[in-house]
Amino acid sequence: MSENKKALTAVIYSDAPPTEKQKNSFTAFLSKRYGREVVLNWEKSDKYPGGFLLDAGEEVFDWTPAGRLSQFTSAVKEAAVSGKGTISLLKDTVKNWVPKAYAQQIGKVVSVGDGIAAVSGLESAAYGEILLFEGGIKGMVQNLSEKEIGCILFDSDGEVCAGSSVRRSGKTAGVPVGEGFIGRVVNALGEPIDGLGEIEAVSYRPVENPAPGIIERKSVFRPLETGIIAIDSMFPIGRGQRELIIGDRQTGKTAIALDTIINQKNKDVICIYVSVGQKSSSVAQLVSTLKKYGAMDYTVVLHASASDSAPMQYIAPYAGCALGEYFMDKGRDVLIIYDDLSKHAVAYRALSLLLGRSPGREAFPGDVFYLHSRLLERSAQLSDANGGGSMTALPIVETQGGDVSAYIPTNIISITDGQIFLESQLFYSGQRPAVNVGLSVSRVGGDAQTKAMKKAAGTIRLDLAQYREMEVFTQFSSDLDEATKKRLVYGQGLMRMLRQKQYSPYTQCEQVLLLVSALSHAMQDIPVDGVADFIHGLLAAFRSEKPSLCKRISETGKLTDEDRKEAADFAKGFAAEYAVREELL
Ligand code: ATP
Ligand code: MG
Repeated sequence: MSENKKALTAVIYSDAPPTEKQKNSFTAFLSKRYGREVVLNWEKSDKYPGGFLLDAGEEVFDWTPAGRLSQFTSAVKEAAVSGKGTISLLKDTVKNWVPKAYAQQIGKVVSVGDGIAAVSGLESAAYGEILLFEGGIKGMVQNLSEKEIGCILFDSDGEVCAGSSVRRSGKTAGVPVGEGFIGRVVNALGEPIDGLGEIEAVSYRPVENPAPGIIERKSVFRPLETGIIAIDSMFPIGRGQRELIIGDRQTGKTAIALDTIINQKNKDVICIYVSVGQKSSSVAQLVSTLKKYGAMDYTVVLHASASDSAPMQYIAPYAGCALGEYFMDKGRDVLIIYDDLSKHAVAYRALSLLLGRSPGREAFPGDVFYLHSRLLERSAQLSDANGGGSMTALPIVETQGGDVSAYIPTNIISITDGQIFLESQLFYSGQRPAVNVGLSVSRVGGDAQTKAMKKAAGTIRLDLAQYREMEVFTQFSSDLDEATKKRLVYGQGLMRMLRQKQYSPYTQCEQVLLLVSALSHAMQDIPVDGVADFIHGLLAAFRSEKPSLCKRISETGKLTDEDRKEAADFAKGFAAEYAVREELL
C-alpha cells in the first residue's frame, strides 16, 4: 500500500521526559495533521532547557526558549506596525500573545561534494531559493527533482556533511548594493576582499531579475566613448548597448575594456568590472592600473577567481548586473564588463554536470544560451519615465584559434548588438588594438554617434576594405602602377593611424581631427614608420594653433564643411612642413 499508511515516527527532544498527558496531546496533534498513526519517541537533550523540539520528519515544531523568544519578537514587531504607543503596545502584546508551536521545514543533506549538495525533505523549496545549512553556510536551489533537490554552495563545503540539517530561508539569492561599493573590490556575494573594511549597503537586490520590457526602454541615443579611435569611428557604442569583445587569448581584449573604463573619467559613468575565472594576481594588477589612472573613483571590481568554486563563478556576472541595475534605476549611466563569459560558461557546465544534468553540444547543458541571454538582456537604455538611466555591457569571449563558430561565441554573437573581433595575426604584426575591420560590427551604436564623428569617419570603412582587398591581390606582384601604389600607401597610413597605445584614449575632438586629416590624404607622404610620431605632433599643433576649432567641435558635437576644410588644410600644411623637416634631419 502507499507510504501514507505507514506510521509516522516523531521524536521529542527535551531535558525531562514528557508527561503522559503531553504525549497524548502531541500524538493527537500529529496524527490529525498528517492523517497517519504516530509513534512518539523521546530523546534526552540538554540543548532546550525548559522547552522541547518536536521533530516530525519533514517538519519541526519549535517550542524552545529561543524559538518562543523569536515568536514573541515578531509579535512585538507586528504590533509596532500598527502604530500604538510603546507602553500600551507592550501591554497588549503580552496580554494577547499566545505562543504557537510553528512548523519549520527541515531537510537533510543526502550527499555533498564539489560545491554541490543534494538535499532531501524540502519538497516546497523553490528554484533559486537560498537554503541555510548548519554552520551558517548558504546554498542556492538549482535542481528540483522528485526525490531530492540539487543545491549549489556559496562557501567551502567542508562543514556540510551528509546527514546534517538544512532549512529554507524563503528568500531568493541577492547581493547588497549601495553607493559604498564604488571604489571597492568585492567577491561574488558582495563581500569586500580589498581589506578596506565593511561596505555599507543601502539595500539588497535579487541576483536574478527580469530584464526591462519594451515599454520601459528607449532606443540607444547617447554615445559611450571608448577613446579608442578604431572603435569609436567605425564601431560606435551607445549607452545601453551590448557590444561583444571577442578574440583569441592575449589579443588585447581586457586592454580595450580597461581603456574604456579609463576614458569614462569625468563622464559621470559608473563602471563595474566583473572578472570570472581569472587569476587573482592579474586582477590585482588591473586594479592598481585603474588606481593609477584615477579610475577606481567610479569603478567597482567584482572578482570570482579561477580558484573560487564553480557556483561563485556562476553567480558573479548576475551579482555585478544586480549592482549595475541599482545605479541604472537611479537614473545613472553604468558600464559593465564581463571578463569573460567563456569562463563563465565553463563554470556553469561544471556545476551542471555535477548536478547531473544531461550534457549537450560541447558538453554544455541545454540552457547555456538562456544563461547568457537573460544576463545580457538586462542591459538597457531606460525611458525617461523610468529615470533615463542606462547600462552598457561589454561582454568578453575568448575564442580558440579564431573560431567564432564555436558554441559559446555564436550564442553570444547572436545575443549582443555587435562584436569587436580581435585577431591574433594583426596583434602580432603590431596592429594594436588588433580590431579586424571586416568582421567587426556595431548594429545600433550609429544612432548614438555624434554628428561630427559620423561626418569625419565618412568612408574609412570602405577605404580600409578596398585596401585589404588590394593588399591581397598585390602581395606577389612587383611592378605596380602609380595609382595602385598610392592607394596601398594610403591604406597603410590609415592602418597606422588606427594603432593606439594602451592607456592613452583620444578625446572625441582629437578623433575627429585625426580622421579628417587621414581621410583628406594629408598623411599620404609620411613614411609609414613615422605616422605615430606625426600624429603626436599634429594633435599638439591643432591644440596650440587651432584652439577655437577644437572648442567648436567638442562643444557643438558637429563638424561644419568649413571646419572640415580648415582642419584638412591645416593638416596638409603641417604634413608638408613635417616632410621638409624630416628631410633636413
Ligand atoms: P587574456 O586572453 O589572457 O585575457 P587578453 O586578450 O585580455 O588576454 P590583454 O591582457 O588585454 O589580452 O593584452 C595582452 C597583452 O597585450 C598585454 O600585455 C597588454 O599590455 C598588451 N596590449 C594590449 N593592447 C595593447 C596596445 N594597444 N598596445 C600595446 N600593447 C597592448
Ligand atoms: Mg583578458
